[in-house]
Amino acid sequence: MKLKLAERMENIKASEIRELLKLTEDPSIISFAGGLPSPELFPIEEISKIASETVLTEGKAALQYSTTEGYHLLREKIAKERIKGGFLKPEASKILITNGSQQALDFTGKLFISPGDIIFCESPTYLGAINAFNAYNPRFIELPMDDEGIIIEEFIAAIKKYPNAKFLYTIPDYQNPSGITLSIERRKEIARLSEFYELPIIEDSPYSELTFEGDMLPSIKSFDEGGYVIQLGSFSKTFCPGFRIGWIFAEDDILQKYILIKQGADLQSGTLDQRIIANYLKDYSLEKHILKLRETYRIRRDVMLDTMDTYFPKTVKYTHSKGGLFTWVELPSHIDTKVLLEEALQYKVAFVPGSSFFPTEKKNNFMRLNYSSMSEEKIRDGIIRLSQIISKYCEAAHTQEKKLIKV
Ligand code: PMP
Repeated sequence: MKLKLAERMENIKASEIRELLKLTEDPSIISFAGGLPSPELFPIEEISKIASETVLTEGKAALQYSTTEGYHLLREKIAKERIKGGFLKPEASKILITNGSQQALDFTGKLFISPGDIIFCESPTYLGAINAFNAYNPRFIELPMDDEGIIIEEFIAAIKKYPNAKFLYTIPDYQNPSGITLSIERRKEIARLSEFYELPIIEDSPYSELTFEGDMLPSIKSFDEGGYVIQLGSFSKTFCPGFRIGWIFAEDDILQKYILIKQGADLQSGTLDQRIIANYLKDYSLEKHILKLRETYRIRRDVMLDTMDTYFPKTVKYTHSKGGLFTWVELPSHIDTKVLLEEALQYKVAFVPGSSFFPTEKKNNFMRLNYSSMSEEKIRDGIIRLSQIISKYCEAAHTQEKKLIKV
């Protein structure tokens, strides 16, 4: 069958890695590939009670269409409780409920990107954002990071080189995939630069509350005097991703545009889901639930990093995330982690090769490892298996290097 598709579909392709990762559905494989919250921590009994009460007591409204902006009590709860601290007082009217923050990424592409437009992002960045933005044919400019996130001098140089860039997309907290966190000084500086250069900042914050060490950091939005920062939030990582409920926090004129886009896309997010979450937030403590998540994920991160410290070759580097779900591993530059994955699958262990997270310059010697969704025992076992393959590849690379030197 020959279909005359839109040009944008040329940018939307199934990735070979996704095909390989389908194999990880085999339960005997230890998969560090996903980015899933731990399912045994979902508050199933509480949700079951709240869901049935919501239908029984509010059914007529809960099963009906509702406003595009979202359920007002949920928007109030988000404004008051989920957006913390800060320079500006968030109001419910500045919140738009979305179907996860993934929908907000798609809307951001729709709102800002015409074909060929420049957008800035971290290098590496979230694969789902690359896919969402790619549908609108942008030109990505990747900004390098160090342990404190985006390097400000590089950001300024990029703004000067591309003054018509549409926005900066950043994940400041425990970044997906690198686990890196943007320092407070740089958050302030990015907010200041956004106002000075009138450049919107898309601050994607699904992991901000999953901190393992100390308090959560103030957002870039909390320093936003110019109103150029658009913050995306989600209940996926702090509650349950199956609800598909997230939000956009932005100033009125920008938010109105997002609302128009949402009307055209799906009219509204599910009324019942929004009310169930709002009622859960009323009757139970999400703070307590998040404390449990933090504690569990911190222990799993420690097990992963300790096992890597013991078994990985010393030439391998990895990040020590202070929260979130991931660590990011850098292997010697000759090693292609896509090739390594094929062998890892035979040892029944999986990860995501790093090349997927670079929108332009594909670097092949990185991998992303997730520690949130598995028991400590499995994490240890999987990392030991992985270390055996990595050691083999590092040795082969080392021998090859020696041979080259001799020649
Ligand atoms: N942004 C980032 C950085 C993510 O890691 C994810 C999920 N992995 C999302 C957005 C999308 O999350 P959701 O749509 O479930 O809110």
